[in-house]
Amino acid sequence: MSTQQSPGAIVRWRGEFASAGIEAAFLRAHGGVIRHELTRSLSFCSVFYLAFALADVAHLGLNRQTLLLFVVRLVTASVAVTSIVLTRRSDNPGQTAYRSATVFSSLAMLTFLLVTYSRGELLLHGMSMAIMLIIVYLFIPNRLVNAYIVALGASAGFLALVYAMGTVNPRQLGTMAMLLLLANLFGAAAARRDAHASRRQYWTEQTLIAQSIRDPLTGAFNRRHLNDGLLEREIERARRQHAALTIVVCDLDNFKTINDTYGHQAGDTLLQDFARLLLSMVRDDRDTVVRYGGEEFLLILPDTSLDEGLALAERMRARLAETSRPHADVRIHATASFGVVSARLSSCLPGMASQALIARADELMYFAKRSGRNRVHGAQWEGADGVPAETGQDPCASAAPPVPDACAA
Ligand code: GH3
Ligand code: MG
Ligand code: MG
Repeated sequence: MSTQQSPGAIVRWRGEFASAGIEAAFLRAHGGVIRHELTRSLSFCSVFYLAFALADVAHLGLNRQTLLLFVVRLVTASVAVTSIVLTRRSDNPGQTAYRSATVFSSLAMLTFLLVTYSRGELLLHGMSMAIMLIIVYLFIPNRLVNAYIVALGASAGFLALVYAMGTVNPRQLGTMAMLLLLANLFGAAAARRDAHASRRQYWTEQTLIAQSIRDPLTGAFNRRHLNDGLLEREIERARRQHAALTIVVCDLDNFKTINDTYGHQAGDTLLQDFARLLLSMVRDDRDTVVRYGGEEFLLILPDTSLDEGLALAERMRARLAETSRPHADVRIHATASFGVVSARLSSCLPGMASQALIARADELMYFAKRSGRNRVHGAQWEGADGVPAETGQDPCASAAPPVPDACAA
């Protein structure tokens, strides 16, 4: 039996993704919701803490004890307000909210123990403690593990305090322990169910998003993702950073003949192999491979000069040409043609530039086809920076210079 874990697996007792990276991404994605929940729950808690402090003063008058409890509750409320402010200012509000929640709920529980110690009324405080446990588990957004520690620690501390104060009989102490145990069990179970549900929903959404932007046959990105502004965003980034951007259009040669000779299934396998080869040779975190048409792929290579783009395309071309794939009792040989265009963009609108760049790379790829296939043709795109702005020409208007190319493999 396979022991391999699905990437979206959730550790049951922790209520978190097994993968730390996915858990961090979940927290980032849910940062806004968590921040909102923290703001609401800590605001309520602070108001209640201050209301109880004022009620004490109203009933018992202003004396050393009520003043001390008032100050302690004021400090707890200030920590709540500070937590809200820090979380609102944080770049990663989900994580900051979890840390703040742990600090606040620990302090709130300590304050409550101090109030219990000062005021007595242990049975009443036992009931309040059970309600506070539910608040810690369910209403203050926190890591489940931290909520377990705070709630169990506070319950144990409370029971120890009640025992030490010696004013309740063993039967009452036992009932109190059962009540707190129940609150812990139900609170933890509900919090765990909540943590699982939000993570399962997040994972389902991520899976659907990934499926909607990928081509199911090859695993490369699809046209929909490209049309969503993928290239325009890279152009904008290259422009901001004054960096080179290279794109490559590549197309399998005589693919129709391969389909006709060996069958559509063999054609599909070749397409998958070609996509795998392209994906394995680009930088995982920087480059993008898009299935642009049937057997045509578009590569977007940020921070890549023309020479680097040509060298990469040439390595890809050579790797495909030198590898043959078994099919029944023969081996299928395939080649591809590549068009490479590199640009330093400064003045064109990203929308116009993206269309012009793709058109130019396509042109170069077709030029490679016409020159005999299984080759790489490339050119520096002079559409933007190549034309000095002071000439007054619109650099985007005639983006594509005549076809004679810079390089042929
Ligand atoms: P050239 O070298 O000029 O590119 O010739 P070609 O035969 O590769 O190009 P052509 O455009 O004539 O044929 C492309 C073929 O690719 C036709 C189409 O049936 C096939 N095709 C498109 N998508 C798929 C696919 O997903 N799977 C398979 N097996 N074939 C596909
Ligand atoms: Mg083709
Ligand atoms: Mg084609």
